Amino acid sequence: MTSEDLADLLSALPLPALVIGQGARILAMNTLGVHLLGAGLEGRHYITALRQPALLDAIETVMRDGVARSVEYFSHDGDHDTTFAAHVAVAGTGLLVSFEDRTAAQDADQMRRDFVANVSHELRTPLTALLGYIETLQGPARDDAAARERFLSTMAAEAQRMNRLVSDLLSLSRVEADARLRPTGEVDLTAVVSQSIALLSSQAQERDVEISFERPETPVMMQGDEDQLRQVFSNLVENAIKYGGNRVRIEMVVDPRMAALRGPGVRVDVTDNGAGIDSIHLPRLTQRFYRVDTHRSREVGGTGLGLAIVKHIVSRHRGRLRMSSQQGQGSRFSVLLPAKSAPDP
Ligand code: ADP
Repeated sequence: MTSEDLADLLSALPLPALVIGQGARILAMNTLGVHLLGAGLEGRHYITALRQPALLDAIETVMRDGVARSVEYFSHDGDHDTTFAAHVAVAGTGLLVSFEDRTAAQDADQMRRDFVANVSHELRTPLTALLGYIETLQGPARDDAAARERFLSTMAAEAQRMNRLVSDLLSLSRVEADARLRPTGEVDLTAVVSQSIALLSSQAQERDVEISFERPETPVMMQGDEDQLRQVFSNLVENAIKYGGNRVRIEMVVDPRMAALRGPGVRVDVTDNGAGIDSIHLPRLTQRFYRVDTHRSREVGGTGLGLAIVKHIVSRHRGRLRMSSQQGQGSRFSVLLPAKSAPDP
């Protein structure tokens, strides 16, 4: 095989790869390899070209015993750290070193670990409070009827918080499980949004919040999962009531040519006149357990999962979620969803 054949062979590989030939020098590498390791390494001794001790050890050992092995190789791509599995194996008279990108798998592992840690932490807080109250009721407050009443109602609130967290976790896992299944139901979105608003009307009254809903006169039909869509608007309207001011405006507009969706769509804006959200938080709001103000969220019964659920449901419906906010003036959450093609207005 000529060195040109070798270069062609390497360039057909979907991984960064290089061949070490005679005299322990780099004989050839592919474009992906150049991208990962830098240019101009051909002809150089592998020790000066590859540098990372674990990889150098692996190459040296494979040269000695001929048994293929893999080691971790660390790099970075712009401002992102990346992790590869570097596979070293004998190939003819030389060695083939190929690099398999493991960054996504590692990130997913890290996310799973963070998620379990977050859930445990979120559950532990109310649980610790409950255990404390139980102990007090068994001991010092045993015969104090007034304290007992007070403690029991606090305990009920803590238990409800755990209940909400578990329900949200179950919703999230159901939505994730269905993520790749196209929803098949026929839904009238106007009715769904009206129902979500109706379910929250007593909560709005308690907080003196006025809700308005501007909508098209005819039903807006779309293909979707009715329960999930109801959850989207319940979460958004409930947030607007909880974190907003005294007015929540919901507006629904049909657009036969919605550019963002490249087709007919419907946009629902949920706008409040509350304190708003600093723009640095906006990109992270849909992350699980991300809250601007943890204390405030807990106080109003938040779990930190509402917007994560919204984002998953909207993307299952091939829609978009947009957020905008002006501090001191309120926030707007817009949901764009594909609708059945409607005649031009
Ligand atoms: P939570 O259960 O805490 O409400 P969400 O995922 O629904 O969780 O929202 C995440 C965070 O986004 C909230 O804790 C709050 O800080 C912020 N947020 C959501 N909606 C609004 C809003 N309409 N106005 C101001 N802040 C909001």
